[in-house]
Amino acid sequence: MSIFTAVDFDCHEQVTFFYDKETRLKAIIALHNTHRGPALGGCRIWPYADEQQAITDVLRLSRGMTYKAAMANLPFGGGKAIIIGDSHKDKSPALLRALGKSIELLDGRYLTGEDVGTSVEDMDSIAETTSYVVGRSTGSGNPAPFTAMGLYESIQTAVAYRLKKSSLKGLKIAVQGLGNVGYHLCTLLREGGADLIVTDIDPKLVKRAVKEFKAHAIAPDAIYGVDADVFSPCALGAILNDHTIPQLKCTIIVGSANNQLDAHIHGKILADKKILYAPDYVVNAGGLINVSYEGPLYSIERVKRHIEKIPETLLNVFQIAETRHISTNEAADLIAEERFREDRKSSQPSI
Ligand code: NAD
Repeated sequence: MSIFTAVDFDCHEQVTFFYDKETRLKAIIALHNTHRGPALGGCRIWPYADEQQAITDVLRLSRGMTYKAAMANLPFGGGKAIIIGDSHKDKSPALLRALGKSIELLDGRYLTGEDVGTSVEDMDSIAETTSYVVGRSTGSGNPAPFTAMGLYESIQTAVAYRLKKSSLKGLKIAVQGLGNVGYHLCTLLREGGADLIVTDIDPKLVKRAVKEFKAHAIAPDAIYGVDADVFSPCALGAILNDHTIPQLKCTIIVGSANNQLDAHIHGKILADKKILYAPDYVVNAGGLINVSYEGPLYSIERVKRHIEKIPETLLNVFQIAETRHISTNEAADLIAEERFREDRKSSQPSI
């Protein structure tokens, strides 16, 4: 197993392995970059096939958080925690308290929050042993509506940029994943007059979307080949790959899933196919922006004002990509890297 030489290691500042004998906690916390501030990123519980897969996942996710926080102009760095286990079988308040003790040992360099396999109640359990946690029941609440808000505005921006249309009325939008974010996004898209084509591996969620949004349901594997104006991946990462990209018939991709590109090169392949890809970490930052304001001064108005900056940033990414003849993911990386290389003091939020 390689760590320092792994492609995904990418200059991580710290990767710590935690084990607790009593609860059998096996956790990894990765801190990618803390130049802008303490690392902020959720805790994922997942039954990884092996330890290598767990390490790769935590490194990729933590790196992505550095880029997301920098792009959203937040005074945070990137980090992530993973627990190896099945959230349905292995999760317990004791396990989460053990994770909290591990986080406490990092002395404020890392703040955790919700991710796949963890909930608001779990953040309350973690908070029993550490104060370095956001998204508690007494905190800023469910981040998904805020993520959906940023995505919706980003879809409008991409549609105006590529299709020269000021409204989503009558546009076909294919949504993959009808969970927390997908559902809230569909609500906004339907209100905006879009026609929805939806899929999920959970039939209950598909049924709800068909009923509530008059959406057209399609099988999970068929979503890539849908003739839609916009494709919105809101389920899993790495879904833009050698197998799926040749099937795509959409013009624009804007979705919430983290790490949508299987590899960096897939951004260029999309650009060559004349598909406008909105980099995931630019458009899905609404939830992160919301938790970043947690505290006594939290106000939804301030959060919304900050989220409204996402389209501006996205437009900048599109313009840089066009003028420099590079892919949109390369353009976004250039902007983000410049920001997280900066000194923390000079990179406080601009709003
Ligand atoms: P979620 O677990 O509530 O929803 C994901 C949905 O995807 C589930 O309904 C699941 O059944 C479905 N799904 C899984 N595999 C699928 C497949 N092969 N085809 C179709 N559907 C499939 O998660 P969420 O909170 O809605 O987040 C969605 C994505 O956005 C995740 O990748 C998450 O990491 C990312 N994200 C979420 C937030 C947030 O605020 N929740 C913020 C940023 C990024």
